[in-house]
Amino acid sequence: MTNVLISGGGVAGTALAYWLHRYGFTVTVVERAPAPRLGGHTVDLRGAAREVVERMGLLQDARRVAVDSKGMSYVNAAGRRVADMPASFLGGVGVVGEVEILRGDLIELLHGATGDGTEYVFDDTITEVTQTAENVRVAFERSAPRVFDLVVGADGTHSLTRSLVFGPESRFRRDLGCYTAYFTARNVFGIQDWELFHNMPGQKLAALRPSRRPEDAKVLFGFASKPLEYDHRDQRRQKELVAEVFAGAGWHVPAMLREMEAATDFYFDSATQIVMDSWSHGRVALLGDAGFSPSPLGGNGTGLALVGAYVLAGELAAAGGDHTAAFAAYEREMRDFVRQNHQLPPGGVNGFVPKSRTAIRMRDLSIRLMPHLPWAGLIAKAMNRADAVTLKDYPYSRARA
Ligand SMILES: Cc1cc2nc3c(=O)[nH]c(=O)nc-3n(C[C@H](O)[C@H](O)[C@H](O)COP(=O)(O)OP(=O)(O)OC[C@H]3O[C@@H](n4cnc5c(N)ncnc54)[C@H](O)[C@@H]3O)c2cc1C
Repeated sequence: MTNVLISGGGVAGTALAYWLHRYGFTVTVVERAPAPRLGGHTVDLRGAAREVVERMGLLQDARRVAVDSKGMSYVNAAGRRVADMPASFLGGVGVVGEVEILRGDLIELLHGATGDGTEYVFDDTITEVTQTAENVRVAFERSAPRVFDLVVGADGTHSLTRSLVFGPESRFRRDLGCYTAYFTARNVFGIQDWELFHNMPGQKLAALRPSRRPEDAKVLFGFASKPLEYDHRDQRRQKELVAEVFAGAGWHVPAMLREMEAATDFYFDSATQIVMDSWSHGRVALLGDAGFSPSPLGGNGTGLALVGAYVLAGELAAAGGDHTAAFAAYEREMRDFVRQNHQLPPGGVNGFVPKSRTAIRMRDLSIRLMPHLPWAGLIAKAMNRADAVTLKDYPYSRARA
């Protein structure tokens, strides 16, 4: 029995726990939060990620809790829709995907599916990792030290596993010069089935998205900025930073800022990509944002996490205990998929938060024109990165009846 510790119980960690348990591994997940962290907006299940969820046998459950999002629309300061991207935009490669599910609902599904077979240790974190040829000794902040055969860091963009085993974050992070904040608000905005995005000059974005419960709305703020000094755990300061940037803004922003005050699931981070030459070192591997965050601008971080978990577990099972061969195969299978998903959508940061009023108008115009261009098919192909990997079959990797 291979005994695996997963650090981080987000999408990547719980999906890996699911597959490893299915293949007969003994799995422990340590999560810093006192319970699964269920915050976040919708994430889309499309392409290979949708296929992975189907192979888990969870696609019907995902569809049952899916959010009905008809598309996203850019609105002006008066709230008038000026450029629409319906769900069918360019054959479905736009912002809204085939199955939109709240991140928290996805984690609950994955957590439920890992069942009784996985040990979850909440409210704790690793503090030391010592490898020998035979095993990995891990010290924890609260629990007694333990020995595992393998350790997987699935502890997000600011992974502690990565810092302890691979080196400081500064060696691997590529900052995009932009910050995003997400939280749930009361739906005082009357948001229904369209996501509304409002760009302001000065590289600022405020957006409202539907949630599964009509009485809730999901709020997103994004802004370009030089690197900001703040504590990753200090939400009060992070809310102040957002309030300072958006003070005096129009549209629904004043109400959004008022809602932010009371938000309990507020999540703020820099838009950062993680770029590494290798995702393993001895008996330790990295998965999801810890190893290859594409940033919220790149999108598909959840897709990479789901597919990565499927591949890593499948290769470990197929290698029959040879973790060196399994980690090498995991890299081979995932490398190009990750590379493609690190490419930013058209315009990059300036497409997400254009600089000036004119640039915003140009972006809106290009969206209105895009479906009518003779080369629209080529654009759609270039934007479709969710399918840029072919899933191998591993033993038992097809959904059970
Ligand atoms: C609360 C929250 C809200 C998010 N909202 C959005 C969103 O709205 N849109 C979007 O595009 N992306 C969002 N993300 C990021 C998105 O979930 C990931 O990009 C993607 O799903 C890849 O998942 P991951 O499991 O690699 O990382 P994450 O989902 O970030 O999960 C990492 C997990 O590791 C845990 N962790 C961190 N450090 C430690 C430690 N030292 N020890 C133990 N556990 C640790 C975290 O608490 C978290 O549960 C959010 C992430 C979080 C945590």
